[in-house]
Amino acid sequence: MDWSGKTNHTVGVIGNKYYYINALVRINQYHIGSYASWQKQGVIAHELGHVIALDDDNGYLLYGDPKVLMIGYDSQRHSLGIYTPQSVNKYVSGLGYVYGDVEGANYLY
Ligand SMILES: [Zn+2]
Repeated sequence: MDWSGKTNHTVGVIGNKYYYINALVRINQYHIGSYASWQKQGVIAHELGHVIALDDDNGYLLYGDPKVLMIGYDSQRHSLGIYTPQSVNKYVSGLGYVYGDVEGANYLY
């Protein structure tokens, strides 16, 4: 198992809208056993982001932004020192406005 954490949702439909009914979070203790405490916290916080319907955001890998908790790769979050939700709201030349975890949650809720 090469994943550190996984979140799966049960989805329900009311009318033409989809809702998350529940979420199952799994943390791979074998994979993260050698992580520092803050890195383990980052994995758990990332999965909780999925629980509230944030998706992986790999814009950082493509464009260098946004630097967010929802980057899908532990190695990238570790290199950036990210283990909590990030607030990002800025203009990136050639890309436009980029937003962070906090802005994503505020947009959804
Ligand atoms: Zn993820």
